[in-house]
Amino acid sequence: MSYSVVWFKRDLRLADHAALSAAACQGPVLCLYLIEPSLWAQPDASAQHYAFILECLRELARALKSLGGRLHVRCGEATEVLTELFAQAPFQALYSHEETGNAASYQRDMAVAVWCRSRLVRWEEPAQFGVVRRLKNRNHWLRHWQAHMGVACIVPPVVEPPDSSDCGGWHLQFHSSTWSKQPAPSVATLGLDPWVPPQRQSGGRSAGLAVLQEFLQQRCRNYRGGISSPLSAPQACSRLSPHLSYGTLSLREVVQATRLQIMQIKDQQPYAAKGLEAFLSRLHWHCHFIQKLESEPELEWRNLHRGYDGLREGDWNPAHFAALTAGRTGWPMVDACVAMLRETGWLNFRMRAMLVSVAAYPLWLHWREVGHWLARQFLDYEPGIHWSQMQMQSGATGINTTRVYNPVKQARDHDPHGLFVRRWLPAMRRVPDSWLFEPWRMPADIQDRCGVRLGIDIAEPLVDLEAATRQAKERLHALRGQASVRAAKAVIVEKHGSRKVSNRQPATPASTRRSDTSKQSDQRQLGLAFE
Ligand SMILES: Cc1cc2nc3c(=O)[nH]c(=O)nc-3n(C[C@H](O)[C@H](O)[C@H](O)COP(=O)(O)OP(=O)(O)OC[C@H]3O[C@@H](n4cnc5c(N)ncnc54)[C@H](O)[C@@H]3O)c2cc1C
Repeated sequence: MSYSVVWFKRDLRLADHAALSAAACQGPVLCLYLIEPSLWAQPDASAQHYAFILECLRELARALKSLGGRLHVRCGEATEVLTELFAQAPFQALYSHEETGNAASYQRDMAVAVWCRSRLVRWEEPAQFGVVRRLKNRNHWLRHWQAHMGVACIVPPVVEPPDSSDCGGWHLQFHSSTWSKQPAPSVATLGLDPWVPPQRQSGGRSAGLAVLQEFLQQRCRNYRGGISSPLSAPQACSRLSPHLSYGTLSLREVVQATRLQIMQIKDQQPYAAKGLEAFLSRLHWHCHFIQKLESEPELEWRNLHRGYDGLREGDWNPAHFAALTAGRTGWPMVDACVAMLRETGWLNFRMRAMLVSVAAYPLWLHWREVGHWLARQFLDYEPGIHWSQMQMQSGATGINTTRVYNPVKQARDHDPHGLFVRRWLPAMRRVPDSWLFEPWRMPADIQDRCGVRLGIDIAEPLVDLEAATRQAKERLHALRGQASVRAAKAVIVEKHGSRKVSNRQPATPASTRRSDTSKQSDQRQLGLAFE
């Protein structure tokens, strides 16, 4: 009897797993996870991603065993491992969720598609969330998203493993090289910098479910009003991002659990319910942004709006980049965020946007290198969200309002008493309150008195913030004003722009869509005024 292979990718769960369920209906299933050296060699990969994934795999293996199956983890390139398996025991079909990954995973998928065709192996790739493959434009996208989220979650199936004699012994041989019998490749073998943030979130579905329950039952009360300040955000935000990025939870189950909770608490706790409504919007953005990369994979490495090509490329300043990544820009809010990120692998949206804005405007750094660095820093790295946001916050999309975050203003607004900067930058604890926001202006005698040396204990700003930001905006706006650049905008809006959405209503009819030339940004359309 033949069997199917289920290839786990960024979907490390059994619940609501369309690929596994479809395969299990057809008969025996061999469950496979691949540690692919070529993907780990990419500049967006980091040891914390690997550590998180291994935790997820450990739990997934246990859960599969309880359903009768077995998880096989293999280190090797996809087509090589499939060739080896197929040579020993041909299989009829390969199942995996559609993946919107980086260029390397896209190329890998292309190679696997060719491999499948040449062996007459059927490759089925169900969607795992509201992203649509081969989408022509955004007109009916919302309807599709709502429909996907409205379908009942799929119950984990019973999994029958293939008989080892069917697999020509490969099965047994394979078993001996699973991570449980043999250690997974080390980070050094994969060529990764070994740093893992000591306070990063743990992987695995049970950790994901615990985070979800805690958020829906308690922490959601502070979502409204709590997500912007880096002081309150770690508790107020859902903290579900790594679990959504690696698929220990399905987006649909989170959407449905949230809708249910809103129904249950809206009368008694209207404020918390409103917070959950805002959270639901973000679950929609999750797919909205990933769809951009799905529809235009090039946005990982080139400007969404080609009219911005050449704007920053020739001006790369290694000293600015080194200071940014070392947390030595001299702007305390920025340097504290870099320190927090290194320790925890997470930052809230506003602080991520501020970091990118500082990099892109006063420091005038191109988004690509900065994006690789941040991808490694973010435990929740999700290529579709990440690269779209990197471009948007750097002003390279041509369809979003220029958003420039002033780090001094952000500190005054979101850390007025300096609790955050003093937590992450010990030298700031000695700086008197009156110099908290602009310590570089401290006179020498005050520096002596508080024992802080500018340029040594606390970095001095690399550039004059106001002048450098003004100059950056002028350069951007000069380009934006050009007729050819303005003309190209409509095409981008048609392909990538959001359409008006409500979480509970079906998608807005096409006749009421905003016009292509609307100046409203994606975010305002979706209510980011809240942020
Ligand atoms: C430059 C930049 C890079 C980013 N890179 C990533 C990334 O690699 N992975 C990632 O998951 N998020 C990314 N974000 C979006 C956002 O900052 C994180 O999703 C959020 O901080 C994660 O914390 P949370 O789950 O507690 O968020 P919550 O506010 O609780 O949001 C819940 C979920 O909604 C989605 N979401 C929230 N905000 C956004 C947004 N603005 N756009 C798209 N989806 C959103 C995420 O899946 C998130 O987990 C990035 C933002 C910026 C500005």
